[in-house]
Amino acid sequence: MPKKESYKVVILGSGPAGLTAALYASRANLEPLVVEGGGGGDPTDVPGGQLMLTTDVDNYPGFPEGILGPELMDRMRQQATRFGTEFMSGAVQEVSFDERPFVLVLPEAKIKAETLIVATGATARWLGLPEELDFRTRIGGVSACATCDGFFYKQKEVLVVGGGDTAMEEATFLTKFASRVTIVHRRDSFRASKIMLDKARANPKIAWLLDSVIEAILGGEGKGVTGARVRNVKTGAVHEVAAGGIFMAIGHVPNTAVFRGKLETDESGYLLTRAGTTATSIPGVFAAGDVQDHRYRQAITAAGSGCMAAIDAERFLSH
Ligand code: NDP
Repeated sequence: MPKKESYKVVILGSGPAGLTAALYASRANLEPLVVEGGGGGDPTDVPGGQLMLTTDVDNYPGFPEGILGPELMDRMRQQATRFGTEFMSGAVQEVSFDERPFVLVLPEAKIKAETLIVATGATARWLGLPEELDFRTRIGGVSACATCDGFFYKQKEVLVVGGGDTAMEEATFLTKFASRVTIVHRRDSFRASKIMLDKARANPKIAWLLDSVIEAILGGEGKGVTGARVRNVKTGAVHEVAAGGIFMAIGHVPNTAVFRGKLETDESGYLLTRAGTTATSIPGVFAAGDVQDHRYRQAITAAGSGCMAAIDAERFLSH
């Protein structure tokens, strides 16, 4: 339960964006409340966000030896706590922006907020295969972020699933490390923009398995991923493909369901912010991290926009 009935700043989400916003807001003596957990509906939507599901993070500045994703989040949390951030868990079920302060309804509490920072993130789409979660979290070898994990696949053969811009971009990026990248796409035409598709097509390290879906991820304990069983959706033929890693690039879903019709979004549901700021369509509501960014999706960019949101909230409150 929250300690107070009303807060100057309430932050939804405890990934890098939410925790950085909390650090800045608490250092500005705004005594923020962070509401964490349960953003998207994926079984792995946990406090701390998507980094809780990764292993080594080698691209967060300040950690020359790398740091484990969960440890990085734990440190950010400690830092926010040090300056007086309050935490509670729970999923916001309803928000009212018609009154001021705003009202947030949770299963066991109603909270008033003078400003709100939405940092609820986005959830990667996954294939939904029974063995997928184990490979993603415990065994390794299945990822939804080439920028984060590509480095670990030096000289390996990898698969990239999807036919959109992300799949083309990730496949092209992965050719820097992998010996071969095969794009597995369920159709023979593409959602990706022509320019990105052409770039991938021109890359000699990229191979294509079209009209194809992954039926099973192969491998296991101690071996990691060894390949996939792939079915051609037109012929029904099934064969096994050897691979040391599989990257899912089948889209992300922003965790914005509770704001539908209340805050302006783009056609995919990402919150829109005013250029160069974190301001949403409602004054006093700010957005940071992946919930408003489908382009960069990095811990450091999320943290940067969390800092911006806290500064924007502080300035809003002082007017
Ligand atoms: P998209 O939704 O554009 O593409 C998702 C792809 O995954 C589609 O090809 C889709 O197939 C496939 N897919 C979805 N679900 C499944 C499934 N269950 N099994 C197999 N395949 C599946 O997502 P992206 O992440 O690629 O892009 C999101 C947005 O971000 C787009 O607007 C994109 O343009 C933008 N973006 C821009 C970039 C840039 O400009 N540098 C880089 C990356 C993204 P199907 O086509 O059959 O539906």
